[in-house]
Amino acid sequence: MKVIILGTGTSQGVPVIGCTCETCRSKDPKDKRLRTSAYLEYRGTKILIDTSVDFRQQMLTNNIKDIDAVLYTHHHVDHIFGMDDLRQYTQRHNKYIDLFGNRMTLKEMKITFRYVLDKELIRHKSVPLVKFREIRNEPFEIGNVEVIPVEVSHGNIKIFGFRIGDFAYITDGSAISPKELKKLEGLQVLVINALRIRPHPTHFNLQEAIEISKAVRPKKTYLTHVTHDLMHGRINEALPKGIEIAYDNLKLKL
Ligand SMILES: [Zn+2]
Ligand SMILES: [Zn+2]
Ligand SMILES: [Zn+2]
Repeated sequence: MKVIILGTGTSQGVPVIGCTCETCRSKDPKDKRLRTSAYLEYRGTKILIDTSVDFRQQMLTNNIKDIDAVLYTHHHVDHIFGMDDLRQYTQRHNKYIDLFGNRMTLKEMKITFRYVLDKELIRHKSVPLVKFREIRNEPFEIGNVEVIPVEVSHGNIKIFGFRIGDFAYITDGSAISPKELKKLEGLQVLVINALRIRPHPTHFNLQEAIEISKAVRPKKTYLTHVTHDLMHGRINEALPKGIEIAYDNLKLKL
């Protein structure tokens, strides 16, 4: 499996517009964070997790030529707003792309992207050609790849993380049940959100993400969806062995 971590910033990205803090002024490329998303190739299937606000730039930077399906964690703007640029793939390859999400995610996306359901626009292929595929909290397949949804709370809504083989990706979680935690055992790589040092009502903070990592013991943990509170160089050194802050365009092989 080949994984590219496309973006690792929280909803406003890093640097934050107008901010003059040390992280936002940092020259370290690892402190430049686009919005959270990941891409993976497994058994010939090309899967994207979320279409972030920065989707277009992420596809160009990583020269991603095709996408078979998108797994949506949830409908918040930072995770969906690049969806329109799937059009380049659906036009070039003359195909539909499946968008997988839970009921609430798809319901909200159909409101936000109402125009992609317009029959006339579809006929002219001037919108991304997409199929909304509702998933429940049970394993399903994309081609020959099994995807296991992992349900987490994000404040008061339920959203999905995903496990594919020995890789799991959780973003925007703030709580996880023991039953869902079990799905994260035996991983090679866990990607999990860690917003900042201070607690937050709708996202895990650094300590909570570390505790989850310690509970399920993946070989390697990467933290994502981080704010400018976490300067890469400084925080990374202080993390327990096997846990690192991810950075944009990080490539993994499993
Ligand atoms: Zn988010
Ligand atoms: Zn800042
Ligand atoms: Zn969110």
